Amino acid sequence: MILSDFHCHTAFSSDSDTAPELMVEQAIRLGLRYLCITDHMDYLFPTQYEQTFTFDVAEYQDKLVRLKERYRGQITLLTGVELGLRNEPDICPPCQSYYRSLVHDYPWDFLIGSTHVLEKIDPYYPEYWQQHSAADGMLAYFESILENIRSYDMFQVYGHLDYLVRYLPVDTKDYHYPDYLDLFDEIFKLLIAQGRGIEVNTAGYKYGLPYAHPRPELLRRYRELGGEILTIGSDAHKPEHIAYDYKRAGEMLLSLGFRYYTIFQNQKPEFLPL
Ligand SMILES: [Zn+2]
Ligand SMILES: [Zn+2]
Repeated sequence: MILSDFHCHTAFSSDSDTAPELMVEQAIRLGLRYLCITDHMDYLFPTQYEQTFTFDVAEYQDKLVRLKERYRGQITLLTGVELGLRNEPDICPPCQSYYRSLVHDYPWDFLIGSTHVLEKIDPYYPEYWQQHSAADGMLAYFESILENIRSYDMFQVYGHLDYLVRYLPVDTKDYHYPDYLDLFDEIFKLLIAQGRGIEVNTAGYKYGLPYAHPRPELLRRYRELGGEILTIGSDAHKPEHIAYDYKRAGEMLLSLGFRYYTIFQNQKPEFLPL
C-alpha cells in the first residue's frame, strides 16, 4: 500500500490556490504517513506567459517547518520543491547557479527535476506544436530530459517523464513509445548510475490517459535496467487530488514486478513495501 504522496502543489505555486494546511489535512484523512509538498520553482520562466512559477523560499520554508510541527504525530510532512530545469544554452548556466544556491542555502528533503519549458516555450501551449510535428515535439522534450540530467546534479528524481503526451495536438492521441526506447535507455542508465531515480506521477490517470507517467512499458524498462528509486506522487493542485488513483498505481507497479517505492528525508532514500 502506498503511504506517501511525493508530488503536490499549494498556493506557493502560481497554478494553485490551495492553502498548504488543506493538503496536509486531506493527506491525513486519507491515511497517508508521508506528504511532501513540492511547489513550482521555475527560474527564468518565459515572461510571455505572465505567470512566474517562483516563490519566496524563506517564507515557504518557515511555513512548512511550522506545519511539520503542528501535524507531528499525525503525518510526516516533508519539504520539497519541483525545479523547472532548462537546457537552452543561455538559460542553463544561470539556472544551474540559482538552483545550486537554493539547495545550499535551505534544507530540503526532496527535489524533483522536471522539464516544463524548452526552446523558451511551455509546450502546454499550441505555439510549441506549430513548430513541431507530434513525433519531433516529443523527441525534443525527451532529449531535453537527457541533457538536464547531465547538467543538473541537485535533484533526486526526474518528474513526469512523458507528461507532454497530455498536450499533443487533439488529432494525436498517444505517442509511439518504441521510437524513443534507445533514448529512454540512456536516460535510465544515467539516472541509475548517478543513484537517482524517477517518479510515478498519477496525474496521467486524472487527465483520462490509460496510464500514469511514465507509461508502464517505460517503467518496466527502468526496472529491467536496475532502476529501484521510484517515488509516487499525484501532482495534486487541490486537496481532492491527493493520492489520486493510488490503488490502481500500486497494482500496476506490483504487476510490473516492483516491490518497493521510495520516500526521501533529508535527500536520503528510504524504501517502503508496495
Ligand atoms: Zn511538473
Ligand atoms: Zn508538479
